[in-house]
Amino acid sequence: MSDILTGYVIKTNDVKDNDVILSVYTKEYGVVSLYARGIKKSTSKNAFACQLFDYSEFLIEMNQMKSMQLLKSATLKKEFLGIRSDYDRLSLASVVIELAGYLEEDNIFDLLDTTLKLLDSHKELFTVFELFVVRYLDLLGLSPEVDGCVLCGDTRNIETISVSDGGFVCRNCNRQLHLKPRDAGFLKNFRIINKASFKVLDKIEGLGLNEYRLSALLMEFLMTHSGLTVRSWRSVSGSQ
Ligand SMILES: [Zn+2]
Repeated sequence: MSDILTGYVIKTNDVKDNDVILSVYTKEYGVVSLYARGIKKSTSKNAFACQLFDYSEFLIEMNQMKSMQLLKSATLKKEFLGIRSDYDRLSLASVVIELAGYLEEDNIFDLLDTTLKLLDSHKELFTVFELFVVRYLDLLGLSPEVDGCVLCGDTRNIETISVSDGGFVCRNCNRQLHLKPRDAGFLKNFRIINKASFKVLDKIEGLGLNEYRLSALLMEFLMTHSGLTVRSWRSVSGSQ
């Protein structure tokens, strides 16, 4: 039986000859593996719609008994030229699709869709990335504590952030931890981004959230508490 799926190519694995296995994040079924025969041949009509980040329609031979479906043809619906042509956008989008692949059971299609469209063109690309990571942490139940000290609950005299303890730490508790104090502006921004969502993106623009340091701290939280090794994060550059 044939079926049509629409989704994002989030991973490609070369197999033998000119064949490739595609992981496609679909709205209907989450992550689906498609076996794409011969798409590395220069004559392949489908290759154009099967590249990483492509949003395409896939005609497949559906076999519900199998975990991998056979691709018959693919049609490109949206190409992300902004992501493809800019190193920072490309590296952040690579982290997004890698992370999406780890959550194949929770369907995060809408989150992926919103994030990639904004990463393609929005001027505050790190802010967009941070909103994705904040939502991802929330889905895993790993949101940092930013309402008060994670150790004693005190809401005053917040001095720093402890990744291993999971959030803000007050001056008193930091006498034992000896973590480097953070400046007040950074602590404030860390709280804002953790309380924010894509719905308020236009309201948080220009607040100074668009920076590598904040993205890196959120990724440190994510990797420490989820146990995931996010390989593509290594290529994100802090030299903006
Ligand atoms: Zn405390």
